[in-house]
Amino acid sequence: MPQIIASVFAESREQVLRQAAKAAMAGADWLELRLDRWPLNVDLRPAIAPVQLPVLATCHTPENGGRFRGTLGERRELLTSALLAGAQGLDLDLHDNWAPPAGRTRLRLLMRSFHSFTGVPRELPEIHRQLMATSGAVAKIAVTAHDLADAAPLLELLRGIDQAATPTVAFAMGRTAWPTRLLALCHGAPFVFGCIEAGEETAVGQVPVALLAGLYRARELGPATAIYGLLGNPALHSLGPWLHNRAFRRLGVDGVYLPFETSRPEAVVEMLPAARVRGLSVTAPFKATLRKRCERLSDDAAATDVVNTLVATTDDGRFVGFNTDIDGVRAALAPFVDADREVAGGDRDAVVLGAGGAARAAAIALLGMGFRVTMLGRTLDGVREFAATHGIRLGSLSQTLPDGLEPGVVVQATPLGSVGRDPEERPLPEWQPAPATIVLEMVYRPARTRFLRDAAAAGARTIAGVEMFLAQAAAQVRRFSGQVLAPDELRAFLAGVT
Ligand code: NAP
Repeated sequence: MPQIIASVFAESREQVLRQAAKAAMAGADWLELRLDRWPLNVDLRPAIAPVQLPVLATCHTPENGGRFRGTLGERRELLTSALLAGAQGLDLDLHDNWAPPAGRTRLRLLMRSFHSFTGVPRELPEIHRQLMATSGAVAKIAVTAHDLADAAPLLELLRGIDQAATPTVAFAMGRTAWPTRLLALCHGAPFVFGCIEAGEETAVGQVPVALLAGLYRARELGPATAIYGLLGNPALHSLGPWLHNRAFRRLGVDGVYLPFETSRPEAVVEMLPAARVRGLSVTAPFKATLRKRCERLSDDAAATDVVNTLVATTDDGRFVGFNTDIDGVRAALAPFVDADREVAGGDRDAVVLGAGGAARAAAIALLGMGFRVTMLGRTLDGVREFAATHGIRLGSLSQTLPDGLEPGVVVQATPLGSVGRDPEERPLPEWQPAPATIVLEMVYRPARTRFLRDAAAAGARTIAGVEMFLAQAAAQVRRFSGQVLAPDELRAFLAGVT
């Protein structure tokens, strides 16, 4: 069973004991003490002896991403004193050919590590061989991926490793590369490094221990775990991992769902073990690109010609494409539209703001509900054929709605106002909805955008993006697992997150 190592910088006795308590509370199995910042003349024993978790001592120099500025002799002395104080593990650099003192210590884990802070070296198999040829029992390889897809050679290395013979922790550092830490566990790696909480990372991309242990089930991941994820750019802000990982746990599925943020989605699909990838969510801007990877499309996906869900049909990387955004829009609007005789019998005009993948899904859902649909977009060329096929009117997105258009339903399907962007930006800044207009906002982070707040203030009946998100995710859970979860249960999975 993999173990979780909480990594912290050791600065003073009080700080170490405080961090150690947090690490244990969060569910760590080991405490990695980075001794780079430890004052050389201060006794380590009072900081290590009382720690309840086994301690893995390490001390990195600037070449290895650390801050230790003493001599080689001083570094070895520091590590020796950590062992004599009770540390049970030691992580040594590949090129440090020092044999730690045996006998008087409780040493039971000797790791040999290699770090690259600039990229992913070509000679990874050779580096792995060298690590295993030294006196270490576990090899650790930490490289840097600027895009998640850069980690492909690392995953290839992991695929070829016999973990029973050569236990290896190999992962990529980097803002978008952290899922490789969990993918390594899916390849049988014996450990994963995490931080005690967000903001306390000792390396880029460490995930808080509580999330590793809880949401991501790090201790239960292994070579039988099915891999799921979200391909998008951005993808890291998604609620998907919260929902799908909790759904898997609830349904007893041995699977992990990870955010794959990349500019090269096809390369990411290629680098994952084909036989283990059972399903992928797809978000902007890849809904059209990844449609081409599907050997078959569901009727909904064929109608939009874009996909937001890929379900593996075979073990060799072939997929059926679905579009559960249509289910999402339908379900989010249904309570309002069906219950509203005025809209149902009267004004059947609907407007979709945006002309991307999600806008297509909204248009198809609205047509299916009997609306006449107008799409307003900034760029319309990519959607002209789709609009002509389905009898959808097109127009330019500007400050307000075109004269004479008084829709009963407006669906906001651009990313305007979403997290990471200007919170005040919104489409149609000069538009005032007529009272009782139904306004569905697709953006779900933040929970209520400026566009939605303005619409509500003008008397519109507003539907937040999370309603659509839950409904489309429920359809994905069904596609991924073949099982059904009640919407309220899915909503509960997001408690405290949105
Ligand atoms: P997409 O395929 O990239 O399309 C985005 C659309 O928004 C395009 O028409 C784009 O126009 C337009 N747009 C982008 N920036 C704009 C700007 N500054 N001004 C005017 N128009 C702009 O993305 P998508 O998949 O359709 O997703 C759209 C939004 O819906 C995203 O925020 C996504 O997270 C959200 N969404 C939510 C759910 C949910 O379950 N709640 C489901 C799906 C999508 P150009 O082509 O000119 O760039």
